[in-house]
Amino acid sequence: SGDTVMLATEAPLSERDGVLHSWSVQADWNAPTVTGGEGAWLHLADGRRILDLSSLAECSNLGHQHPRLVAAIRAQAEQLCFVTNAWGAQPRADLAQRLLERSGFEGGRVFFTTGGADASENAVKIARQAAGKPHGAIIARDRSYHGATHLAMALSGDTRTRAQVDPAAFGVHHVPPPYAYRCPFGSRDADECGRRAADAVSDHIDRLGADNVAAVLMEPNAGTNGIVPPDSYWPALRRHTADRGVWLIADEVMSAFGRCGEWFAWQRHGEAGRPDLMTLAKGLTGAAVPLGAVVLSRDVAERIEHEMLYAGLTYCGHPLACAAGVAALQAYADENLIERSRALGSALHAQLLQLQQRHRVLGDVRGGHGLFAVLELVADPVTRAAHAPWPQTPAPLRALVDAAMAEGVSLAVRGNLILLAPPLVIGERELSDALALLDRLLTRFFPNEPT
Ligand code: PLP
Repeated sequence: SGDTVMLATEAPLSERDGVLHSWSVQADWNAPTVTGGEGAWLHLADGRRILDLSSLAECSNLGHQHPRLVAAIRAQAEQLCFVTNAWGAQPRADLAQRLLERSGFEGGRVFFTTGGADASENAVKIARQAAGKPHGAIIARDRSYHGATHLAMALSGDTRTRAQVDPAAFGVHHVPPPYAYRCPFGSRDADECGRRAADAVSDHIDRLGADNVAAVLMEPNAGTNGIVPPDSYWPALRRHTADRGVWLIADEVMSAFGRCGEWFAWQRHGEAGRPDLMTLAKGLTGAAVPLGAVVLSRDVAERIEHEMLYAGLTYCGHPLACAAGVAALQAYADENLIERSRALGSALHAQLLQLQQRHRVLGDVRGGHGLFAVLELVADPVTRAAHAPWPQTPAPLRALVDAAMAEGVSLAVRGNLILLAPPLVIGERELSDALALLDRLLTRFFPNEPT
């Protein structure tokens, strides 16, 4: 037909012009196209190879195109691509069993979602239902991130997302974070800052009345906002919420699956850190297929066992995704990637502390638990003054990121933070070469001023 002839002669629509890109100013979006990958490397359409130091969005923990993931997805696709939750699917059952065993949540249940934001939303919904407080308040914290759907955005304590929604309309309250480098409570000691931040949560519960609070939702370790809670924080939070009959939800979307040196970050504190619910996504499938989950303790699960659950999307617990999840969990275990992350993470932390000795701009080096390091850049390490107000990225840091990319290394930056979260399969040599590059670029873009 005439229409077909017209389409055939038109130039193809470029991604830049046709797609509305997330978290972008459309007119500025101009990213290179990725055609493939291997290990910690991304392959670009123009033939370049880029070392990925952030696992994309801190999600590709197994690197790119992990052969086991590819094989598992292919095998599942050949057998059964999809059935809804109205039907059983073996990979869903297998993945739930493995998650409950790994986390020690025996007797609990797993609710599968399509990603992190709907895991946050459903965790809140389930927590309210199980508490018998359908409109109960949820306490989250400033400088946190829980996703970009409406409730998840309201939960996120992020200055940019806060402006888009009204947390109060969703029953969400925010408290100050356990940010030891700039302690909101004025503490000089990190553990004291962590305890004060946990006390701020219990004070807030007491002010609202525990009967009116359904849950506390927090990230137990490092996240996009670069807060790494002191050791004292999470166990204190656990005690305060348990004492008050308020559920504790650990948002483990970014921190689980080796990222923070454990299967689940709260496990660093042993049983003293066990939450009532936890949310998962990202590393759950090594990001190969979208999947999220809410894991419920036995106590939470039993309370809703005989009630209708008004939750779920068409693709929740998609068999392809669950098959990828089973393969991912097997790969983390068989390749000792949790232990590897812990070992490489503490070596990386030691190297970064050395780098800090040579670069005044490195005000704070956070992490040390697994392959997740946060570098906070400052204009003056003595006063801790920032180059630009949070969450602006100082111009020299943007230039540093561009220069790294030109040298084949992709770095994640948020405000004045560099987040180093490479795939757990990254080679030691690749990591040390990248650190040497960072050292050179810090000298180039932030020459030390005489003290
Ligand atoms: N929770 C945390 C801690 C996250 O880091 C993220 C994403 O970065 C989310 C939730 C949202 O996950 P998703 O982007 O899969 O919706």
